[in-house]
Amino acid sequence: MEDGLRGSGIDSGLRADLEALVGADAVVSRRSELKVYECDGWTIEKNAPDLLVMPRSTEQVSAILRLLHRRGVAFVPRGAGTGLSGGCLPLAAPVMICTSRMNRIVSIDLSNRRVEVQPGVVNLHVTDAVRPQGYFYAPDPSSQSACTIGGNIAENSGGPHTLKYGVTANHVLGVELVLPDGEVVELGGPAEEKLGYDLAGAVVGSEGTVGIVTRATLRLMRAPQSYRTMLALFDDVDTATRAVSKIIADGMVPGAIEMMDRLIIGAVEAAFHVGFPPGAGAALIVELDGLAAGLDDHASRAAELMRSCGARSVELARDEAQRQLLWKARKRAFGAVGRLASNYATQDGVVPRTRLPDILREITAIAARYRLRIGNVFHAGDGNIHPIVLYEERDADETRRAIEAGREILKACLAMGGSLTGEHGIGVEKLAEMPLLFSPDDLRVMAELRAVFDPDNRSNPGKVLPRPGSCVEVSAPRRQVPL
Ligand SMILES: Cc1cc2nc3c(=O)[nH]c(=O)nc-3n(C[C@H](O)[C@H](O)[C@H](O)COP(=O)(O)OP(=O)(O)OC[C@H]3O[C@@H](n4cnc5c(N)ncnc54)[C@H](O)[C@@H]3O)c2cc1C
Repeated sequence: MEDGLRGSGIDSGLRADLEALVGADAVVSRRSELKVYECDGWTIEKNAPDLLVMPRSTEQVSAILRLLHRRGVAFVPRGAGTGLSGGCLPLAAPVMICTSRMNRIVSIDLSNRRVEVQPGVVNLHVTDAVRPQGYFYAPDPSSQSACTIGGNIAENSGGPHTLKYGVTANHVLGVELVLPDGEVVELGGPAEEKLGYDLAGAVVGSEGTVGIVTRATLRLMRAPQSYRTMLALFDDVDTATRAVSKIIADGMVPGAIEMMDRLIIGAVEAAFHVGFPPGAGAALIVELDGLAAGLDDHASRAAELMRSCGARSVELARDEAQRQLLWKARKRAFGAVGRLASNYATQDGVVPRTRLPDILREITAIAARYRLRIGNVFHAGDGNIHPIVLYEERDADETRRAIEAGREILKACLAMGGSLTGEHGIGVEKLAEMPLLFSPDDLRVMAELRAVFDPDNRSNPGKVLPRPGSCVEVSAPRRQVPL
C-alpha cells in the first residue's frame, strides 16, 4: 500500500485525478506529513486524513468536490486547525480540503463598509488591511492571529469584543459556497436588507457540514475613537463575577469584560510579566470604547462599581502599550497554560451572566470530584465560560476523568439555563450532549436542513448531529478511527 493511502475507497487513481485538477504540489499523501493534520485544538481525539488537498480557487474547490461526488467520497474542510471541538477531525471523511492557500482579500469597499475575502484569510489580517483607514473587523477570537475567516464562519466564532459587537453571524453579509456536489452558489450578498430565507445565516455555524465556503462578504466597523482599558483584581472569582453583572445592570455596555482566575493569572504572569501581584484570586479586564467624550466618566463609574463589589485594585492602562500588554496576556492565556500541564481541554459553555458565581463554584466542585486542576479564562460579559481542564495524555485514567469532568460542566451549564457552546461549536466533542439540549424532533429538523445542502452526508460527516438512535459514547476517546 502506498504511503498515506490506507484504503476506504481511496486509491492512487483518486490521488492522480486530484493532482490533475490542482497540481501535485497541492496534494499531500505521505503519512508522515498528514500526521500534522490529525487533530485541531481538541487533541483528545486524533485521526489523520488519507489525502489532503490545498486548492487555490473556487474553481478548483468546485472541481475537487465534483470529483469526490462522482466517486462518493466524503471530505472534511479545514482552515487553520485552531478549532477546539474537533470540527476538522476526519471521521469517515478520507479527504481533507484545506483552504489555507485561498488567502486573498478580494476587495475592500470602505464607502459601504464591506470587505470581500477568500476563506483562508487569517482573521487579524482583515483588520490589519483596513486599520490605517480607521476601520476594523469586529469578531476577534483570541486565536485571531492564526484562525481563518472560513473557520470563523463555520464555527460562528466570537471573541472578547462579542459583548458589544456581536459574533461572526452579525458580520457576515454573504457567502459563496461550493455544495458537496461541486455546484457553486451565492447566498446573501453585500446589501444590508435581504429578502426570503436567510440561507447565508444557515451556513454560519454549520461547522463544515454544508459544503465549503470559498468567499465571504464581511461588514467592517469604524474603529472607536478612544478606549479606556482597566485591570481589576479581586480576592476570588465570586466577587469578580458579581462585579460583571453589576456593571452591565448599571446600563453600560463595555466593549469587553474578560476574566481570569488564580490558576490562569499565575501562568499568564509567568509568561508575560504583566505585573499581576501574587495571590490575586481573579482578574477582570474591562474595556470601554467609543467617543472620547464621556468615556472617562464611564470608566470612573465602572471602577466605582467594581470597588463596591470588593475589587482590591482597579488600574487604568496608562497608554496604548500597556493596553496592548493586557490584551496580549488575555489573548495568549491559552498558550501560557502550556506551563501548567502537558495537555489541556478547553471547555466552552454558556450560562446566564448572573449565574457565573454558581457555575464557577460548580466547576471547583467538579475539579475536586475528578481530582483535576481546572483553570478559568473567559468572556465574562457574555456568560461564556472556558474552563481549561488540565490533564496528562499519557495517563489514560486522567484523560478519561478530564473528558467526564468536561461533560459534567456542560450538564451544569444546561441545568442553570445555559447552552452547550458559546463559540467553539459542537464538533465531535459535544455530540453526546446534543440530545440533552434538543428534542429528537429538533435534531431531525436540523438534519433535514443539513440534507438540503448535503443529501449524501459527505461534508464533514459525523459532526454536530448525533446519528438518530445512536448513543454516542465519548468517555473513551475515538483515537485513530479506522476509515
Ligand atoms: C488559543 C485559542 C484561542 C481561541 N479563542 C477563541 C475565541 O476567543 N473565540 C472563538 O470563537 N474561538 C476561539 N478559538 C477556537 C478557534 O480558533 C475558532 O473556532 C476558529 O474559528 C477556527 O478557525 P480555523 O481556521 O482554525 O478553523 P478549523 O479549526 O480548521 O475548522 C473549524 C471548523 O470549520 C470548518 N471549516 C473551516 N474552513 C471552512 C470553510 N472554508 N468552509 C466550510 N467549513 C470550514 C471545519 O470543517 C471545522 O468544522 C480559539 C482557539 C485557540 C487555539
